[in-house]
Amino acid sequence: AKDRGGNCLQVYDRVLGACRTRHNQLLADLPIALERDQFDLHFQPIIDLRDNSVSKAEALMRWHHPEFGPVGPDEFIPIAEENGYICELGEWVFDSVMRILPEWVALFGPNFQVGINKSPLQFLSDETMPTRWAQRLQQAGLDGRNLVVEITENSLMGRADIVTQKMALIAEAGMQVAIDDFGTGYSSLSYLNRFPVDYLKIDRAFVRDLTRDSRDFVLCEAMVAMAHKLNMRVVAEGVETAEQRSLLAGIGCDYGQGYLYSPPLGRREFLAFMYTSCPL
Ligand code: C2E
Ligand code: CA
Ligand code: CA
Ligand code: CA
Repeated sequence: AKDRGGNCLQVYDRVLGACRTRHNQLLADLPIALERDQFDLHFQPIIDLRDNSVSKAEALMRWHHPEFGPVGPDEFIPIAEENGYICELGEWVFDSVMRILPEWVALFGPNFQVGINKSPLQFLSDETMPTRWAQRLQQAGLDGRNLVVEITENSLMGRADIVTQKMALIAEAGMQVAIDDFGTGYSSLSYLNRFPVDYLKIDRAFVRDLTRDSRDFVLCEAMVAMAHKLNMRVVAEGVETAEQRSLLAGIGCDYGQGYLYSPPLGRREFLAFMYTSCPL
């Protein structure tokens, strides 16, 4: 028994060591990954549940690591926040979106929107982001409304004054705001009334087990009703089945996003999706 315990510890040490090594290596590799062109931006279509049209997409980062292969943003975004590199990544995402957005707005109409995820840390500390981004949009001949800034619910907590000021600047610049992963954070509903929020994105945790008699169904119904009374639109995340879609449409949820429609796609694949799903 003593031996086995020792082995377990060794294995445990090795696994832990490997995790630490991977983490440290990713931390060290991040700053050169941009120069070496290892990042990619994918776009996931967001579908209007009333008529199945596609007027929005969410931009999602991908990292092709030379050694580890694909590394997901859930893993590298927190690391980038740790070493401050998140600022560079954030600008890279914005620049990449700006390279395609004029074309997409021309193709899909003036109401087309792309959502960008903004790290909470960066959202709070980046003083000039709203005006800087608004200027770039204007220079590109775009409307502020073509861009949606997605921030997680948690990033709003406890900093109401800074958040209010930031959101006011974003709204002034004509850009829109989505509260991401709604329902999973520490929420105080009172901020919804105070901040100019355009979209609530219901976290996929509520969508996953959605059936007509589930508690999640009641919660989704309540979130949609509340959002609409506050004049916000609702996006359901992680829609994977036709049943989920029809339940969500039934309670008046405005938009759906998920594997039922499409995974996040490369730029070309996204265009192909648009042409096959809604022939112009
Ligand atoms: P998120 O903003 O909640 O993005 C939605 C995530 O759900 C994406 O994971 C997407 O690929 C995944 N997803 C979409 N449809 C489905 C579905 O039907 N089922 C399931 N199970 N999953 C689905 P992804 O791309 O791995 O991104 C994870 C998170 O990383 C994002 O969560 C976002 O918080 C963060 N992230 C991604 N790109 C960026 C970025 O450019 N900047 C920042 N700050 N964060 C980013
Ligand atoms: Ca998001
Ligand atoms: Ca989300
Ligand atoms: Ca998430």
